Amino acid sequence: MTGVVRKVIIIGSGPAGYTAGLYSARALLEPLMFAGYMSGGQLMLTSDIENFPGYPQGIGGPEMMMELREQAERFGLEVQDKNVERVDLNSRPYGVWVEGEEYRAESIIICTGAESIWLGVEGEEAQKGRGISTCATCDGAFFKDEEVIVVGGGDSAMEEATFLTRFAKKVTIVHRRDVFRASKVMYERAVNHEKIEIKTFKNVSSWLSDENGLTGAVLEDSRDGSKENIDCTGAFIAIGHKPITKFLEGQLETDSSGYILHKENTMTSKEGVFAAGDVVDTRYRQAITAAGMGCQAAIDAEKWLESQH
Ligand code: NAP
Repeated sequence: MTGVVRKVIIIGSGPAGYTAGLYSARALLEPLMFAGYMSGGQLMLTSDIENFPGYPQGIGGPEMMMELREQAERFGLEVQDKNVERVDLNSRPYGVWVEGEEYRAESIIICTGAESIWLGVEGEEAQKGRGISTCATCDGAFFKDEEVIVVGGGDSAMEEATFLTRFAKKVTIVHRRDVFRASKVMYERAVNHEKIEIKTFKNVSSWLSDENGLTGAVLEDSRDGSKENIDCTGAFIAIGHKPITKFLEGQLETDSSGYILHKENTMTSKEGVFAAGDVVDTRYRQAITAAGMGCQAAIDAEKWLESQH
């Protein structure tokens, strides 16, 4: 085992994790965070955050994450950019394994967020990174003056499509219904863009490619099953996310989709184990709500630790 038993270990480093780190550091709990090899979470892949109060001109995702981290570190949050391999939530103090080293903590705050879902249709695996992506911010610039498609009808799809107009000649949004989950403002920004076309009632049934990479997709009509081909050299899948909970190996109660369940305030099914942000949240999933929940989890952990002594 490595060192002393910590009062709090925070796993994950999006807005929920850094806010939990800030609050628990200010409560003198000397928190240790395992931020992951790619610290900062999904917002590291977001170009502009326009809806976080306090930034009238907006702010870049990576920039905000750096500032959140700096703020929490100023009050004593210790951050290690490493992944947690597994945890033991069956005996206290709880165990956390990182690069083969064992750490122990009286309480744990899980803020590991969520990751993109892929379509899983024929031809996808081979074209990942050769034309098919889940991150326009990361890969959009590869498609200058080319035709790309974006799959999905939520805010992510609208955001990706609008961002891709900076590079692509044409962006087609492919959605399986004619009702959009996206917020009105983001839908309208996309639908009114001269480079964006929207195809409704279409599912991608397979991807088409040649030796140079992606060349198109077969679209199947969700009403009558008819098929058509669409040409594209890039495709961005924006159909939602799934929670990152594999390292828990089923030790906490979750819903049927794997999202961690809260039992009392932000406490999970294990005493002293708290969860915040997208790993819990199936409804709001915003940077501001994740940050708010990270604050709640830190306060709940502090009060729970007090009650133990
Ligand atoms: P989402 O709102 O859950 O939308 C997912 C979309 O993908 C839906 O249109 C869904 O269609 C479609 N879909 C799901 N599975 C599919 C499949 N197998 N095949 C084809 N289409 C499929 O997810 P999201 O857009 O990632 O947004 C998640 C949350 O993050 C939301 O709360 C959103 O507001 C937030 N967000 C906010 C911003 C921002 O404010 N800047 C940006 C991005 C995301 P159906 O509608 O038919 O189910």
